[in-house]
Amino acid sequence: MRIEVVTLFPEFVSEAVRFGVLGRAQDRGQVTVCARTPREFADDPHKTVDDRPYGGGPGMVLKIEPTRSSIRAAKARLPQGSRAVYLAADGVRFTQAKARELAQLPGLMLLAGRYEGVDERLIEAEIDESISIGDYVLSGGELPALVVIDAVVRLLPGVLGDDASAQQDSFSEGLLDWPHYTRPEVFEGRAVPEVLASGNHAAIRRWRMKQALGRTWLRRRELIESMSLSTEQRRLLDEFLAEHRASEPPSAT
Ligand code: SAM
Repeated sequence: MRIEVVTLFPEFVSEAVRFGVLGRAQDRGQVTVCARTPREFADDPHKTVDDRPYGGGPGMVLKIEPTRSSIRAAKARLPQGSRAVYLAADGVRFTQAKARELAQLPGLMLLAGRYEGVDERLIEAEIDESISIGDYVLSGGELPALVVIDAVVRLLPGVLGDDASAQQDSFSEGLLDWPHYTRPEVFEGRAVPEVLASGNHAAIRRWRMKQALGRTWLRRRELIESMSLSTEQRRLLDEFLAEHRASEPPSAT
């Protein structure tokens, strides 16, 4: 996969993608991430990339011509069938399902805004979809672009040591992840759940499914409510809730 990021701060992006899973995926040629700035295309001596908003008011807007040239140059470096995405607080919320969808594409152009954002006509002309990483406003689209890149690249075949680990992550099956433990078996008086050291794989699978169901119920009930649970999942969730109620201190009333 090839990813082109259009940003006023290309080093911010190119430095961040050097580490961990992303860095290794690039070293192995599984993904190429390039970041370039519209400043390359600014034609005045000051390399101006912002302009005042029509209608007045505070803040500036990314200047249309250098940004368009930078987007088009980025698109020209991408394979056919790639998608152009603008990271925007008013975009559609980014999810694991969207990450899976984007991971099927041969390439992505990610436009990171700054200031008040980008001229609306540029979005209409050059962008396929706008994506938000959450209901809050950041100073620029670089961190959102990196969030999208990280979530997408770890889904590419062969990028994680064990492809099954992405399938087990939170949201992949509609549920949050189950709790994880490593050595020592007892840490500050807290023991690892006995079943995990039992070697009984069927029991471990059931325990993990039960914890994932229970945790999702407690923390993100709307996810469970939008799923249709199998008979086994329903039974495991009921067991979890019964155990959870039994472990809670009695109420004062
Ligand atoms: N005026 C914009 C608004 O109210 O929606 C905010 C602009 S923000 C200061 C500058 C840039 O940060 C945006 O153009 C966008 O690229 C990026 N950005 C900010 N919050 C974001 C979010 N939640 N998701 C994705 N991108 C975001």
